[in-house]
Order: sequence, then C-alpha cells, then structure tokens
Amino acid sequence: MKISSPRGTSDILPDQIAAWQSLETTARTLFRTYGYSELRTPVFEETGLFKRSLGETTEVVNKQLLEVKSQRADAQDAGFCLRPEGTAPVVRAYNQHGLGREEFLSKLFYVGPMFRGERPQKGRLRQFHQIGAEAIGRGADHPLLDAEIMALAVNILKSAGVSDFKLKINSLGSAEDKQNFAQWLRDELKDKIGHLSDTCKDQYERNVFRLLDSKDAACREVINGLDIGTRHLSASGAAYFQRVREGLDRLGIAYEVSAQLVRGLDYYTHTVFEISCAGLGAQDALGAGGRYNGLIEQLDGGDRRFPQTIGAIGFALGMERILLALEAQGRAVQTKRSLDVFVVCGKAVLERETFALVDSFRREGIAADMDFGGERPVKKQFEQADRLGARFTVILGEDDAGAASLSVKDMATGIQRPLSPENMAGQIKNML
Ligand code: AMP
Repeated sequence: MKISSPRGTSDILPDQIAAWQSLETTARTLFRTYGYSELRTPVFEETGLFKRSLGETTEVVNKQLLEVKSQRADAQDAGFCLRPEGTAPVVRAYNQHGLGREEFLSKLFYVGPMFRGERPQKGRLRQFHQIGAEAIGRGADHPLLDAEIMALAVNILKSAGVSDFKLKINSLGSAEDKQNFAQWLRDELKDKIGHLSDTCKDQYERNVFRLLDSKDAACREVINGLDIGTRHLSASGAAYFQRVREGLDRLGIAYEVSAQLVRGLDYYTHTVFEISCAGLGAQDALGAGGRYNGLIEQLDGGDRRFPQTIGAIGFALGMERILLALEAQGRAVQTKRSLDVFVVCGKAVLERETFALVDSFRREGIAADMDFGGERPVKKQFEQADRLGARFTVILGEDDAGAASLSVKDMATGIQRPLSPENMAGQIKNML
C-alpha cells in the first residue's frame, strides 16, 4: 500500500528549500537587529494551555486542535495537543522559567511548525509554519513597542521581497473597553440577528467579535451597515492608540485603521493588526498580531512571582503564505545547487581511489561528491555533476596503456587539462 503525507501537510523538497532558508535567514537577521532572541518550545503542550488562553469559544480550540495520545496503557498524562499557535507556549515558558524576574523586557522569537485540523485548501494547511515574535515584560507596556513590533513584521516582509501588502490596525482598548465594545455590538445586532444563519446566532451568543470576520453574505451586509468607529475606547484607550499611530508615523510605516478588525481570540486587548496581501485569494493574511497584557497573569495560575504589571505584544507571520506571495509576484528564491568538485570515476576498478579522493577534498573543506555508480558511463556521471552544480569535475581514469590519468574540467568553459597527482586539493583550491 502506498502511503502519502497526511492531507493538509506538505514535504519541503530540496528544490524548494532555498526559498525557505532565505526567508528564515532574512527573519533571523531582522530579529537580531531589533534585539530579539530565539526561544524553542515543544511542538505539543497541555491542551488546557490553549483552552485557557485562546478561549473555549474560538474555532481553533473548538474544532481544530489535533490531540496527541500516548499508546502506553498506564499513561496518566494530561491531555496533550499539537500547538496551534506560538504565543501561549511562549508565555507558558516565560512564566515557567521566571524570565520576568531577570529581564525588564524579554524580546523573544520563534520559527517552526504549527498544527490546526482545518479543512485543507490553498494557503490553508494542517501543518504550516510561522515566524513569530513576542515582547513581554514590565517594559512591554508601552505604545511605542506596538509601533516597533509592527514595523518589525513589515520589515521582515519587505526584506523578504514581498510587495503589495497592507498593514491594517485597530484598537480594542483595555479589557473593560473591550467588554463595552462587545456589549455595544450585541445591542446593535440584537434586532438583526434573527434573520441570520444559525452559525451567526451561535457566534452572537458565544463570541460576538467573530461576527465581524464572518464570510456569510447576509451577515456581512449587517456588519458593514454598523457605524463602529472607536466609540468603545475610553479616553486612556484612545490616547494609547493615538501614541501607537504616532509611533508608526515616526517609523514611516504605512497603515490603515480598520474598525472591523478585532481578531477573535480572547486574549487580545488594545492594539490588534493584520497584514494582508493582494493576489493571494481567499487566504490573503500574511500575518497578524496584537497586544495581550492580561495573558501572562492569566496563565501564571495565581503564582505571581513578579507582582508588577506585565505587558505583552506579538505577531505571527505564515511562512507558506509569504512564499506563495513571493511566487505570485515572481520573486521566489530559486534553489541553486552548488558543488566545488565532482569526481568522475573513469573505470569501475578505480572506485576505491575515487572514494578516497573525494574524502581528501572534503578534509580540505572542498565540497566534493561522486555518484557511487562507477560502472555507469562517464557521460552519465558528467550529467550528474551538472545536476549537482559542480564547478569542476576531476576525472580519474586510465589511458590505453593502463597508466593512471588525471584531469580536471571547468564545467562552465568546458576546458579540460591534466592535473598533477601531487597536492590535488591545493590545485583545486587555487582554481576556486
Ligand atoms: P493566526 O494565528 O491565525 O492569526 O495566523 C497567523 C498567520 O499564520 C496567518 O496570517 C497566516 O499567514 C498563517 N496561518 C494561519 N493558519 C494557517 C493555516 N492553516 N495554513 C497556513 N497558514 C496559516
């Protein structure tokens, strides 16, 4: 029976890897520039971590968690699931290791796979990869940090070569402002909800903000008819948002304020943002993020080791989506294989010599290879050298009289000349 990769997952093949590595390198360089350090957390966590942070009413928690079960009969494990996102694990680690005790502001980033049991479609996978950043600490409760972290996300995309994307921002205000916002929405929609679908009614009851993201046409019409604005913001909430926008202006980051942008997760307060890209179709979000000041305390289980106010803000960018955008914009990084030297074995009896010669090149730091097909025609071996992007081939052979012959061929010019058996690595190095 043929087994394929599970639906909604994909293999990243050698021909595609340069694009991934290039994106990752770009992100890592920018993270360093902005003072972020990498944090690696497990790919599975206790399910309760996500239930408590994202909220039980969110689709991710309700329908998309991929559970992990042990086969051990005696397993007393808590329920585990593959991580659907990176923020909650980072906060868990921040609390668990008391990072806040040592640092006024922790700037952390991660790169890795996330898992959601979604219905797969273009740009929507069950295993996908995110590049994310979280700034947490007493020093993280500052509007200029909101502006800085959005600039970081935008600059990663720009440096990666993506164009035509848009940063949309909004503010939910403080936790209290957010509650007022939800109440205002419920009041406004009370008389209209009866005409909407059951899903919409359910969302109205369970998490009214989700209606703002609804794809249901009738619901969209109702939502578009609302005059949302920023009326839910208290004076201090509005002032905070004003300072965030001033920060973005100062950094020269273009943005659009979108009153309908709320993000459905429970933990967001104040700034929320999303970056979308034209030309990606229905799944056009390249990344998103927001402020979540209350989450640190909420996940600390009352064990406050550091009683000061802790602020937090972060974002996650979808790597597959960024690569799709680069491809659509004709800017995808192509994989170029490269090898310094490929050793062609001219006769099967010379296989051991070929093997040893390749090793002697590698010991000198020269990227060398052979194809372990000593009996294959020399022509085929040259084709393999080409496929591997070899700059030179060294041909190990015997002349008609049975004497050893050694030559080197420059694969770009096709010029072939004899090679002396003394210090072959040195001779190759001089040519590279
Ligand atoms: P979210 O945590 O849902 O806001 O996701 C942040 C970013 O991750 C999105 O903007 C997408 O770029 C990417 N993303 C989220 N879910 C998926 C998925 N199922 N497949 C591929 N990319 C995803």
